[in-house]
Amino acid sequence: GKGAAMVTAVAYRLAEQSRQIAQTLAEFQLTKAQLLEVKERMRAEIQRGLSKETHELASVKMLPTFVRRTPDGTENGDFLALDLGGTNFRVLLVKIRSGKRRSVEMHNKIYAIPLEVMQGTGEELFDHIVHCISDFLDYMGMKNARLPLGFTFSFPCKQTSLDAGILIKWTKGFKATDCEGEDVVGLLREGIKRREFDLDVVAVVNDTVGTMMTCAYEEPTCEIGLIAGTGSNACYMEEMRNIETIEGNEGRMCVNMEWGAFGDNGCLDDIRTKYDEAVDELSFNAGKQKYEKMCSGMYLGEIVRNILIDLTKRGFLFRGQISETLKTRGIFETKFLSQIESDRLALLQVRSILQHLGLDSTCDDSIIVKEVCGTVSLRAAQLCGAGMAAVVEKIRENRGLDRLEITVGVDGTLYKLHPHFSRIMHQTVKELAPKCDVNFLLSEDGSGKGAALITAVGCRLRQQEQQ
Ligand code: BGC
Ligand code: MG
Repeated sequence: GKGAAMVTAVAYRLAEQSRQIAQTLAEFQLTKAQLLEVKERMRAEIQRGLSKETHELASVKMLPTFVRRTPDGTENGDFLALDLGGTNFRVLLVKIRSGKRRSVEMHNKIYAIPLEVMQGTGEELFDHIVHCISDFLDYMGMKNARLPLGFTFSFPCKQTSLDAGILIKWTKGFKATDCEGEDVVGLLREGIKRREFDLDVVAVVNDTVGTMMTCAYEEPTCEIGLIAGTGSNACYMEEMRNIETIEGNEGRMCVNMEWGAFGDNGCLDDIRTKYDEAVDELSFNAGKQKYEKMCSGMYLGEIVRNILIDLTKRGFLFRGQISETLKTRGIFETKFLSQIESDRLALLQVRSILQHLGLDSTCDDSIIVKEVCGTVSLRAAQLCGAGMAAVVEKIRENRGLDRLEITVGVDGTLYKLHPHFSRIMHQTVKELAPKCDVNFLLSEDGSGKGAALITAVGCRLRQQEQQ
């Protein structure tokens, strides 16, 4: 009768709805062949970044860091370190002791960078940084110590020496004026001078490099650094003979890949979805860091949000009502995605997280939201794994080995907090680079410790030059 017809109509509508949602999410699913293709493209971009003729136009910049070897345990002394560009801005005191009972002791303080400083003038930004250093020295009771300082600055910099780095372009949420094209060590030194105190800036360090060095201090087979956090990037020890952008053919140097820019020349367009395009267009740096925008914590939540908006518009979610919350940029931070995707969480708890974010959901809504999050983070982990597979294969070929055993030092909120990201990424590397045995080592506070280790080496080289 009539009732049965209605039930059939509802059942049909629901089936049709889930078919359409599945179809939307299918755009994010990559086959093994596609992932192998991504690996090959990364491999080609690595080559373009390293070669003299193609470097200028290459999107993956492969920047020399002037770090020529990993630590050997002889590093010694007290150092200051700054960590700018991750989830928190920090100032650190790092005490490294060499010898039989080698040890690293750290003290640090987290400082906020107000939005208006992040997006104000460069002078304001560096004044704020120097103010924080000065506060930290007060706090540690060492106002008059002139300690060597390592500056972990997690943005693409063109380095001409260990202590000079020209900011190529801000990434992530930063956009302070008058910094791009400038040497950030110079900007820091000027800030220090304006406050009339004295510090010896010895090194500018990318967070990937700090992470690699920190892990290498414990584990000598670590010759790669990876950040899967707010941003995404990797570095590794490349043969000097392959780095055509600087003189010299002997030994190795760590190269900051700046792989977040992979795809900026359009080479990933065939796998990008309209949601990726929307996220890019709404960002501060449209058209830039396209791979990073598919892989890193700052953007995964944004991809999710854009999918949810679309599904809501199509009437599949939130009773078709797009709330103000859903229109708000950045609501889905890494920690929320991580909670939503946790297997231990019952759907009721997912609903309460959504509630907490200001999203009124039904039980069905929460199932769909969890599925969307899972789809987006799965692709992120796989893409990151495909990039890493290209790197380990490159190193294996460099060394003419049938098999390579190597360790990757890793840091970043996405890697550390997300319940599935690390496992899927490891698995993908294994599948795409079967001739490499890759170990992943979580870095304990890489940005701080690593900067200090590099600063220690920098100080020693300087002393040798003076002798
Ligand atoms: C920056 C890199 C950095 C990465 C991770 C990217 O946005 O360009 O320099 O290593 O984020 O923090
Ligand atoms: Mg960091």
